[in-house]
Amino acid sequence: MLNHLPLHPPRSTAGTLPVQVAVVGAGVAGAACAHTLAASGANVTVFDKSRGVGGRLSTRRTVWMDASGQERPVQFDHGASDFSAHSLAFRAVVQRGLDEGWIGRWSPTPSAVDAPFEHLVPMTGMPELCRALLGTQDVVTGEPVTGLHRVPGGWQIERDSGLWPQRFDQVVLALPPAQAAALLRPHADGWADAAARVPMEACWTLMAVTDTPPGPAFDVLHPCRGPLARIVRNDRKPGRQEIPGHAVWVAQASAAWSAHHRDDSPAAVSEALRDALRAVINPGGAVRWCHSTVHRWLYARPAHTPLGGPGCWWDAAKGLGVCGDFLLGPQVEAAFLSGLDLAQAMSSTPSPRRSAGSGAARFARM
Ligand SMILES: Cc1cc2nc3c(=O)[nH]c(=O)nc-3n(C[C@H](O)[C@H](O)[C@H](O)COP(=O)(O)OP(=O)(O)OC[C@H]3O[C@@H](n4cnc5c(N)ncnc54)[C@H](O)[C@@H]3O)c2cc1C
Repeated sequence: MLNHLPLHPPRSTAGTLPVQVAVVGAGVAGAACAHTLAASGANVTVFDKSRGVGGRLSTRRTVWMDASGQERPVQFDHGASDFSAHSLAFRAVVQRGLDEGWIGRWSPTPSAVDAPFEHLVPMTGMPELCRALLGTQDVVTGEPVTGLHRVPGGWQIERDSGLWPQRFDQVVLALPPAQAAALLRPHADGWADAAARVPMEACWTLMAVTDTPPGPAFDVLHPCRGPLARIVRNDRKPGRQEIPGHAVWVAQASAAWSAHHRDDSPAAVSEALRDALRAVINPGGAVRWCHSTVHRWLYARPAHTPLGGPGCWWDAAKGLGVCGDFLLGPQVEAAFLSGLDLAQAMSSTPSPRRSAGSGAARFARM
């Protein structure tokens, strides 16, 4: 587990016992919140519907068949491709990763792309950042949380397989806004409405292996026309395996194109995006597709950066909190800071001013 960040222990409704917290969502916001709460002495259990942690910091591993019929492994970072770190709090985590070697610096060419930010990449796959934050905490994966129930002294968590046996003093929702809204509805109507109103952009993403195309190699391109907004040579990122004679691509469609084709079939989207990728990497020529598949992110990023709103929502009276990128901005770092903000709010002394039903509060970061 990463070095503990200095924090006051959150108060338990049970007096001297450590506070029991359920964090729903093991993306970077949930992982940052859980990490910070655990560092301050809380007992945290993290729930995620996916098989693993990371959320939109995700890496898909699969195999493809080469020309000789041999199965070859390949990985695609099909959510966030990299991130940057500007705040002191996130830099501290990143520096630890750089020192220990599980985060690498990526210098994509052409170098003017996305300058002047540093591009940071977890070496073994994007979820590594969340795994490092979560350390040895209890993480329950593979089933969505379908309901929250207020019970005497706290909360119970419901999943399809039934009620989780443990009661929690406090619950954190670290989810995209539509999913948070569904769970908030019975308990915090105003928050549910506010979350449901946040527009999220969809993103169709193509993952492909081709023969190495002719022309100069590049790491990232942002085509200015056509369906694709960003093309990444995934195999040229730090820690990823290059395959001689081949190229591994992650190509994201633009928000406008993804919205227009939101409900198209994966086969139709794959054909359109492969055609668009071919036109960029071998204009006028052909491309040999060794493997390709598409993924649709329904909730890829918040459409707008929130202007001056709270970075998290915390109701001390109910013991209910919300964090995630939709409250601070469409980046990994913003999601991290939202989770950190919430953990800090939870560990502050509850005050009547802050604990009113609409009492969303933003707290200073370290
Ligand atoms: C295609 C794409 C490209 C991006 N590129 C970049 C980039 O280059 N740089 C950058 O900084 N950011 C990028 N982003 C944005 C960045 O990935 C997100 O802002 C950030 O990861 C959001 O983290 P989060 O914790 O708020 O949400 P999430 O990562 O979405 O985490 C929410 C978690 O909740 C889980 N969950 C949902 N519902 C339930 C439920 N009912 N019960 C239990 N668990 C549930 C999900 O499985 C998920 O793990 C990109 C995003 C996408 C999709």
